[in-house]
Amino acid sequence: MKNFFEYDFAEFQQFLAENNFEKFRARQVFDAVYKAKLFEPALFPSIGEPLKKFLAENVEFVAARRVGLKNSSDATGKYLFELSDGNFVESVLLQAPSDDGKLRRTLCMSTQVGCASGCRFCASALRGFVRNLNLGEILAQSLPFVEERELDGRKRRVFLFENIVVMGMGEPLANFDNLIKALGILNDPSKFAFGARRITVSTCGLADKIRELARMKFPFRLAISLHGATDEVRSQIMPINKKFPLGEVLSAAMEFSKACGRMITLEYILIKGLNDTFDQARKLAQIAKTLHAHVNLIPYNRVEGLEWKRPDPSRRRAFADILERAGVSCTLRREKGSQIEAACGQLALKKKLGDSLS
Ligand code: SF4
Repeated sequence: MKNFFEYDFAEFQQFLAENNFEKFRARQVFDAVYKAKLFEPALFPSIGEPLKKFLAENVEFVAARRVGLKNSSDATGKYLFELSDGNFVESVLLQAPSDDGKLRRTLCMSTQVGCASGCRFCASALRGFVRNLNLGEILAQSLPFVEERELDGRKRRVFLFENIVVMGMGEPLANFDNLIKALGILNDPSKFAFGARRITVSTCGLADKIRELARMKFPFRLAISLHGATDEVRSQIMPINKKFPLGEVLSAAMEFSKACGRMITLEYILIKGLNDTFDQARKLAQIAKTLHAHVNLIPYNRVEGLEWKRPDPSRRRAFADILERAGVSCTLRREKGSQIEAACGQLALKKKLGDSLS
């Protein structure tokens, strides 16, 4: 059964016509899904029972079923989705005040089951790579998060998050085509019309794909996981550094910045005794200044089965101070989500291993 999101409008018209339904019904179905954000044919307005039944039996609207939730007191929710083949992926809904003091919710989505990149601090890597998510499975992680709001005097169903980050389980740029299609559907003004500047894709540094994004003038934000400011340190925790050493990643990042005219974010997980030295901080500051990049410092979230630890608060602060004194725009993240195993892949890994979800 083909997933609804695989159809463009003309194809869907054709599909209905071939099955003896009027072509104009395609507009009603597209509006029900993309404008009204209804994902069950039974709920579509202005559509008769025969078409509802046909759609329910012949088109897949939601490709993943939400089966688990963990909440933490820091306003972070982690959701587990079951796929049709019995695999699991997860997404995280984070809530935090932004610079203007308003609460913003950010949905963190996955693109693969497991991951082949093998970062040595990451829960997803413990499983190895299983498979890419298809288009429907990527989008399905956003579909349950809809709420009704009063807008312009009318009740409308809207996404209940304001930002999307693609940095859950998997390396997004290793599932390139499905990622680009999914982002296109989220951003398309005639579909979900979700602003490009509110979507960030995070990569562990696939330099060839970053260059491809530069060539296509990727309209979304890009974050690069650095986690080490020298090859020596980065290679200890990121095997991808062998294929794409730091110099290559940084030159691809520069190409992206120039082509897309947008500030890159450098993600840097602070791990005690490994990459939290002041020398690394100074080198990271130099890299960020050259790229005009923002740096996001993230204290390590403990992963069961891995030895790494986060530095103590004074060390984290001192590391951030070095960057700030060098004039680098930098955020030292609170440990949001640590209570619910929000390092990518931890919940899906537990489920796979048979643990129960609370
Ligand atoms: S950190 Fe990201 S890229 Fe690295 S193994 Fe985990 S999911 Fe893959």
